[in-house]
Amino acid sequence: MKCFLLLLMPLFLTACAAAAPVERSLFAMDTLMSIRIWGGEDAPDAVSDELTRLDSLLSATDASSEIYHLNQAGQAALSDEVAALLKKCCALSERTNGCFDPTIYPLVCAYGFPTDAYRVPQAEELSALLETVGTAHLHFTGNTVALDSGSQLDLGAVGKGYAAEACAELLDELGVQAALLQLGGNVQTVGTKPDGSDWAIGIADPNEPTQAIGVLRFTGSLAVITSGAYQRFFEEDGVRYHHILDPRTGVCAENGLASVTILAESGTLADALSTALFVMGLEEASEFWRASDDFEAVFVTEAGAVFATTGAADRLTDCDFTVIAR
Ligand code: AMP
Ligand code: MG
Repeated sequence: MKCFLLLLMPLFLTACAAAAPVERSLFAMDTLMSIRIWGGEDAPDAVSDELTRLDSLLSATDASSEIYHLNQAGQAALSDEVAALLKKCCALSERTNGCFDPTIYPLVCAYGFPTDAYRVPQAEELSALLETVGTAHLHFTGNTVALDSGSQLDLGAVGKGYAAEACAELLDELGVQAALLQLGGNVQTVGTKPDGSDWAIGIADPNEPTQAIGVLRFTGSLAVITSGAYQRFFEEDGVRYHHILDPRTGVCAENGLASVTILAESGTLADALSTALFVMGLEEASEFWRASDDFEAVFVTEAGAVFATTGAADRLTDCDFTVIAR
């Protein structure tokens, strides 16, 4: 009996150690991030390094990034990784009818978002800048990209989702049991917690962002990514100007939506679609979902009503909502 107990003790201690996640916070991509990892001794360092690496690869404001260099020079030979991501962005722009557009940067700058020097551009300025927006202004020759004069890239609408996806792949390779990556409002789950319990991911209440308006509960790996007008905005003369712009008009997307949360296997897809569906509005976004099979969505309107596509509805708890069916 004694031998049996002795044998059990180390096993029990190992199980306890595996059950306690390692937690870490870091600042990257202009965002406070927190990571929680169960198992995999080197994993927290590997994830921190990966997030920092991707930040300095994709940022439009970091002078050492490939995107910054391309924007300044108008032409650049990109790494395989950035070229592949940019090609994916062009495909997603086409798929969303330009509602997600990686060439939006001149408009984003006109409102002063990258520098916090906020201003409201007038209609004339916007219509001149709109001439530079659209993926037709971006020309690939292999990995070399040339931009038409005045056109500039902003991968801010996919960067965190891409980073989450890259980290999830890294964690799988490192063999960790489970991880929860919170990159600002973007969440990536990896695997299933040692105790087998559900992940519980709150959807921020747009009117009270520190509170959850509902909770998504599920097991396994998933990207859960939210775009919301409440996440970044400024006010001028009592009018609120937020950071999600309609590439067709150059003004902030205003269609009654306060936030869009996308659930998908791919973080890159989820991030691009969270932005695109916010621009589309509830009706067009619902039709877009009906024609797709690779994501689910939760919409919160400015009036505080919640709508969930069937696959999201299955996981949504702690709130009343209307189901969007096929
Ligand atoms: P997200 O929070 O993922 O919706 O991304 C918003 C960020 O993407 C903004 O801060 C801008 O830098 C950029 N952005 C704004 N509107 C668009 C758009 N329609 N398509 C692509 N990027 C956008
Ligand atoms: Mg996005």
